[in-house]
Amino acid sequence: MAEPTRRLFFALWPDAPTRSALDSAALAIAGKRVRRIPAANLHVTLAFAGSVDAVVQSCLETGAQAIQLPGFELCIDVSGHFARPRIQWLGLSHTPAALWELAGALRKALAGCGLEPEARAFHAHVSIARKVSRPLPARPFEPVCWSIGAFSLVESVSSAAGVQYLPIRTWKLEGQAASMG
Ligand code: ATP
Ligand code: MG
Repeated sequence: MAEPTRRLFFALWPDAPTRSALDSAALAIAGKRVRRIPAANLHVTLAFAGSVDAVVQSCLETGAQAIQLPGFELCIDVSGHFARPRIQWLGLSHTPAALWELAGALRKALAGCGLEPEARAFHAHVSIARKVSRPLPARPFEPVCWSIGAFSLVESVSSAAGVQYLPIRTWKLEGQAASMG
């Protein structure tokens, strides 16, 4: 019999005020005519594992636990479009070095558990609408600055009602370094 699997990914999971600010930014970009991704689903994927069994899940959790990286700030201040998956997104005009490091460390953790490395380079974004064939026109929105103190392992559960994401475990990042001078 096949082992049961769960579809997992690592993500930055917004706190309630950040989620609400991201949803407002998404509304400003997409307007009311475009069906947006529900506020509850907004997140930044850091590394995608796919369907894994309990042994691989446990390996991923051990890998995540070993990560020792500092917390950081990011600001979501641009919007863009991925043509092939037809997704409109919110993103960052500047990706902090600490975010590259965190995503890189998680990709290494995935590889350490025998998962295929992702072919695509990391591109931090929050998907806000699907089935968007052409880029939505640029509209101003209030940048969302977000203090990142943790990352999560999230399960993706699909049903007739759509996809739902359930954070199953969260790891804290280290306190931000004291400023110099
Ligand atoms: P669905 O696939 O049901 O339409 P979804 O794409 O939102 O919905 P998942 O495919 O489970 O749900 O993806 C979960 C998260 O991982 C999303 O942020 C998605 O963009 C990202 N993701 C999915 N597949 C990959 C992949 N191959 N590489 C990188 N990120 C991925
Ligand atoms: Mg998908």
